[in-house]
Amino acid sequence: MDKFKPSSYNLRFLSQEPMYVFNTRTGSLVKLDKKTSDILESGEYVDKESIDNFDTLLGQGIIVPSEVDEISEIVMMQRKCAYSEYESILSLVIAPTLDCNYECFYCFENNTKRQGSMSKSVEQGILQFVENEISRNPRIEKIRIKWFGGEPLLELTVIKSISEGIHELIGDRNIAYFASVVTNGLLLTPSKQRILREKCYVNDIQITLDGMEEEYCKRKKATTNDFHKVIDNITTASETLNLSIRMNIDRSNYNGILRITEELLISRKLLGKISIYPAPIIIDEKFSDCSDSNCYKNGEFEEVRLKFIDFLNEAGDIRSIKSRLPVRMIVSCSMVNENSFCIGPNGDLYKCEQVIGIDEYAVGTVFGSKRYSKVEMNMRLLDLDSVCRECVLLPTCMGGCPFKRISDKYSCDMRQRIEVVKKSLCKIVERRGVNETR
Ligand code: SF4
Ligand code: SF4
Repeated sequence: MDKFKPSSYNLRFLSQEPMYVFNTRTGSLVKLDKKTSDILESGEYVDKESIDNFDTLLGQGIIVPSEVDEISEIVMMQRKCAYSEYESILSLVIAPTLDCNYECFYCFENNTKRQGSMSKSVEQGILQFVENEISRNPRIEKIRIKWFGGEPLLELTVIKSISEGIHELIGDRNIAYFASVVTNGLLLTPSKQRILREKCYVNDIQITLDGMEEEYCKRKKATTNDFHKVIDNITTASETLNLSIRMNIDRSNYNGILRITEELLISRKLLGKISIYPAPIIIDEKFSDCSDSNCYKNGEFEEVRLKFIDFLNEAGDIRSIKSRLPVRMIVSCSMVNENSFCIGPNGDLYKCEQVIGIDEYAVGTVFGSKRYSKVEMNMRLLDLDSVCRECVLLPTCMGGCPFKRISDKYSCDMRQRIEVVKKSLCKIVERRGVNETR
């Protein structure tokens, strides 16, 4: 009789009945009785007779045929995706300027050359570049653009002009278009929100906050008026755009982050309309983030994430918890793909958004041929660490940021990260049930 085994990517959570298992490879979540849960936990082979709900568990990838080598399949998919010249998604991060209207103390772009605004000839170069990619690769089904900076909304006319140009290029080809903006929110007035939605086809916006008024102004060199404008802009934009608010946290501002979260969710009544997530400010001597002793070192932040999940849960903000559930990734960062690029204001191409504007990392320009840089090759040829190969979260992480890994700046507290995922799943299931995790 055919034999089956529990998947290596089952994450069991809740220790009392009912128990649940989440499979990080398939994204499925299944409710289990204790007997079935114990059988799966034992790691022993199973068959149709030895386990209840066999067909469901097999269909959801909770059990797999005994001959399946899951890790090899994951690695095969990763390599296929990283080295294929015919990936179905063309992914571009475009920085129309590296200038900014703030001066956050942790900004990695404090050390980069500014390059000024994007010229008309670079705009044309980008459109030609996209046209070349679409013609070269008939498999492209989706174009994904992330507008990045500096502060991209300083150059809204450039964003509008390139967005319209790409839409003309797509024409009646069967290619989906998806665009997002990373902004500090100061210029995101209602009229600009409308232009972004209607003329630039933007769906998602990410805005960073650092705390309430006093902290915000100090850390960003902003004025009180700026702070209130940003909060007003978030409030109006939440009506028509998908907003995710990144809370930048170091050792000195956690309480301020709790207060601004309450301000948004309760005073501004944005519960269920925005997603909020915590992000560490990390010490990084080269591409600072920050050199301040208040900043976290790699791997130190997971305790804070756990505390923040409890806080969101108490505030009833399941939408935010759900928005950070891990999803299946084929590669660790889309930038390792052959047809993913970052583009700087002068038209230079890069393979990581953290290095836009740094000449030594350029891998070509939109005007000419691409070349392989040493950094790019190192990122793309990187093997999985042995510890990642054993990790239940591997399908949702694929080893973490390749740029940090080749710079020896990546470390992961696997145990804590697993706790974060389990806690998020528990809170969602407790409040909303199994179907709400999808
Ligand atoms: S390589 Fe790392 S830092 Fe660069 S874009 Fe990818 S995940 Fe971000
Ligand atoms: S980086 Fe951490 S979470 Fe990701 S696969 Fe490796 S050990 Fe697991």
